[in-house]
Amino acid sequence: MLLDFACVKECSKCCIEREYYPSVEFGKIGVLLLPEEKRQIESSAEKNGIKVIILPRIGISDDTSGPKTVLAYQLMGADVDGNTCPFLDVTSDKRSPHGGYSCKIYDTRPLACRAYPVIQSSPIVLDSKCKFCQDCGTPSGNVDSELESLVKIQKKMETGAKYIWRYATGIGEPKDKDLIKTGWSLV
Ligand code: SF4
Ligand code: SF4
Repeated sequence: MLLDFACVKECSKCCIEREYYPSVEFGKIGVLLLPEEKRQIESSAEKNGIKVIILPRIGISDDTSGPKTVLAYQLMGADVDGNTCPFLDVTSDKRSPHGGYSCKIYDTRPLACRAYPVIQSSPIVLDSKCKFCQDCGTPSGNVDSELESLVKIQKKMETGAKYIWRYATGIGEPKDKDLIKTGWSLV
């Protein structure tokens, strides 16, 4: 039976678990931030007294000497292994409407958080790691606002640049530390 998308009761998986992408060598990724969102997140962090690590994610250039412009940044997890968004309120009893941990900046959360679990717009694809997808399969609908946010990100990141670069974060499980690189690579 197909169900409309809704967060699974008490789930906070997407705010906690970070993945290696595109491979272990690139380290764990953070929440994607557009350049204007980076400034907003830094200011929210300051207001809330929260320490954040924001690294570049995607850069562009017209030659191979290195990225000249950063198209997107990433908000790294607070844990040593790269997990757990620093804005996730894991220490209080406050909970979101579906019972998961609450987000301290919910009303101003990044577009990437608003888009999840939609990760592709045409055709629409949801992240198979989302607990809803794992427990309930493909939803029948109710992902319009997520899709709208994803399309906004895609439009902002459109580029005619000749070279695209990806930043290796250097962050991941301690057992993988010898494999994980830091710095830019051409995509
Ligand atoms: S989007 Fe998916 S992984 Fe994230 S809290 Fe909702 S059900 Fe859980
Ligand atoms: S900003 Fe909020 S919604 Fe986004 S990952 Fe962090 S805690 Fe979750």
